[in-house]
Amino acid sequence: MHYRRVLRTGDPGPPGTVRRRSICSAPDCEEVVDAKGLCHGHYQRLLRTGRRDVSPLREGGAMCSVEGCDRPHKAKGYCAAHYKRVLVHGHPRADIPIREVAGTGTFRNGYLNVYVRGKYVI
Ligand SMILES: [Zn+2]
Ligand SMILES: [Zn+2]
Repeated sequence: MHYRRVLRTGDPGPPGTVRRRSICSAPDCEEVVDAKGLCHGHYQRLLRTGRRDVSPLREGGAMCSVEGCDRPHKAKGYCAAHYKRVLVHGHPRADIPIREVAGTGTFRNGYLNVYVRGKYVI
């Protein structure tokens, strides 16, 4: 590991030494380190939760910022469902769980459009 030498001298070491980038310390993660020994996704999770959780990241890495919501990130730090609430209500209503709505629904442009008894629900 020549990292400290690089810091001290600016010299990565003798030619022929391949400088390997550090890999995330999460056991199943092979992303390069972003900060604190964690890749970008795991570091963002640390920032978000305050906990050093090294369980595997979901596909795509980022997740909804609402406590207890493990849906994938869609926009502005929220999953599609919570983001939609923000658009509609101005806040994610994090205390109200996202319901798996039973009704007719269609996926369009990545959004689940659900109509229940003629009313549009999220
Ligand atoms: Zn990672
Ligand atoms: Zn969410």
